[in-house]
Amino acid sequence: MEELSTDLLIIGSGLAGILSALEAERLGLNVLMVGKFTIGMGTNTAFASTFTVANSRFSEKDHLRATLESGKGLNHLKLVKTLIENGPDAMKRLRDYGIPLIEKGMGYTVDRPEDSSQLPGVLLIKTLVERLRNSSVRLLPGLIIFDLVVEEGEVRGAFGFLKDGKPCLIQSTSVILATGGAGAIYRRNDNQKSILGDGYALALRASLPIFDIEFVQFYPFVLAEPRLSTFILLPPYPKEIRLINEKGENLLEKLGIEENINWAIMTQRDRLSIALYEASQQGDVYFDLTHVPDEKWNYYPLNFLKKSKFPFQERPFLVSPAIHFFMGGTEIDEKGKTTLPGLFGAGEVAWGIHGANRLGGNALTECAVFGIIAGHSAAEYARTKDNGEKQSTPSEVLKRRWERKVKGYIKRKRGTFDHPRDLLKGLKDLAWKYAGPIREKGSLEEGLDRLASIEKRIERVYSATLKDLFKKRDLENVALLLKAILKGSLLRMESRGSFFRKDFPDQDDQNWMKNTCYHLEKGELQITHRPCYQ
Ligand SMILES: Cc1cc2nc3c(=O)[nH]c(=O)nc-3n(C[C@H](O)[C@H](O)[C@H](O)COP(=O)(O)OP(=O)(O)OC[C@H]3O[C@@H](n4cnc5c(N)ncnc54)[C@H](O)[C@@H]3O)c2cc1C
Repeated sequence: MEELSTDLLIIGSGLAGILSALEAERLGLNVLMVGKFTIGMGTNTAFASTFTVANSRFSEKDHLRATLESGKGLNHLKLVKTLIENGPDAMKRLRDYGIPLIEKGMGYTVDRPEDSSQLPGVLLIKTLVERLRNSSVRLLPGLIIFDLVVEEGEVRGAFGFLKDGKPCLIQSTSVILATGGAGAIYRRNDNQKSILGDGYALALRASLPIFDIEFVQFYPFVLAEPRLSTFILLPPYPKEIRLINEKGENLLEKLGIEENINWAIMTQRDRLSIALYEASQQGDVYFDLTHVPDEKWNYYPLNFLKKSKFPFQERPFLVSPAIHFFMGGTEIDEKGKTTLPGLFGAGEVAWGIHGANRLGGNALTECAVFGIIAGHSAAEYARTKDNGEKQSTPSEVLKRRWERKVKGYIKRKRGTFDHPRDLLKGLKDLAWKYAGPIREKGSLEEGLDRLASIEKRIERVYSATLKDLFKKRDLENVALLLKAILKGSLLRMESRGSFFRKDFPDQDDQNWMKNTCYHLEKGELQITHRPCYQ
């Protein structure tokens, strides 16, 4: 078994992870960062570009109002205020790191030449990874964390497998969870394939509660052509764009957003996604860009589509809503602390800011603000804690315990030959069908029944190879999360923000100004509700 030791371990190399690493390193800590792939790659950050932050035309008051309006009463107010107050400084920090930010709309966006078809998020992440490479932060790509190491009520590191199959035990005084969200657990999603909610599952298995995981945000428009990979169709949309159904009817007109689709995409994603989901139950829905003049195809984002072999300029193409973002996650306070001593959280894995729906652009701001805060707090914690009691390698007792656990992971010899890939596809289809934009009692119960039968098949998956072991872990994580989403949705008898119950279409403030708390007790998922923080 590979054994490593550090002051601070950061799990995840998206924006939240990288900024926390740079902050802790600046404070003189030994920092180790791990990610599933090459550092910075396979992150949702690489797709994103817009930060909602107060600027010369959008005040902190505007930001507060818009965030709370989207969150529909479920936001954790202290966290929102921390986000808003620290946003401008976080933008300054990003500029200091060499990110070309320009003021735009409700905040800032990553700037690059207008005719460049490179995704701005790729420029963002590459610039930051370059900065990391010139720092003392140790980078360990290709490590998949399976468990947090918890001893005597505090986090002491993490355990995982390297891509070559070698088990790896990392002892660390503090740990930052920056594992992103879980969008790829749905068949239709615009996330990176590997964003499967590992962080939520890691937290639950370490006896930490997670909150409001039934609130998932859908993005109305992703490419849904069968032979092309699903990807988000980013704004700004040209004014000539048409959204049509099979009969050629203009759906933007029907939705009343023909004139302001770009504003609607920032502020009304839930309404648009539900409408699109319903429309696509009646038949296919298409974007038609054939009326867009040639010169507009030289600029982003159309020049990105123009690079594809698909004739976007010549014929309408299928679109669909898709899962985009998870509002729920692990609880943190204004210092980025979770309720488990030594464990901090930042980015999409964390819960509290967005409430029942996220204002567009607030996710990157959250990563930037809370990445820096978590890096700072985790560094302070490690410093205080390490005072005299630091060990250079994992203790013998710890090692032996984890060696036994490794045997448990690899030993399974009997089982069915259900292919993990088919089971994962089954789970993703189930998520889309039963826990999608529109939910109701009957279908949620049916979803839970179907999930129970897939769970039995997952238990019997034979981990003959390492690949199977990784896949099996994915299956277990996805099934756990899906169970939480279905059960939590069944209990919430109202509609709010991104959450829509067809059988309870109204927001019910009298009974449901509550956050949902999920935790594992002896391996069983328990769900309770508690009044919102205000
Ligand atoms: C297409 C798209 C466009 C978007 N555009 C915007 C936008 O313009 N503005 C905005 O505010 N938001 C946007 N978002 C949302 C935003 O991109 C994400 O919420 C944010 O980037 C998440 O960053 P993160 O650092 O939390 O996680 P990520 O950037 O997703 O990184 C997660 C990291 O965790 C690692 N990881 C996960 N599990 C494990 C494990 N078990 N072991 C080891 N490593 C692990 C991954 O390998 C990865 O390195 C967009 C999202 C998408 C999908």
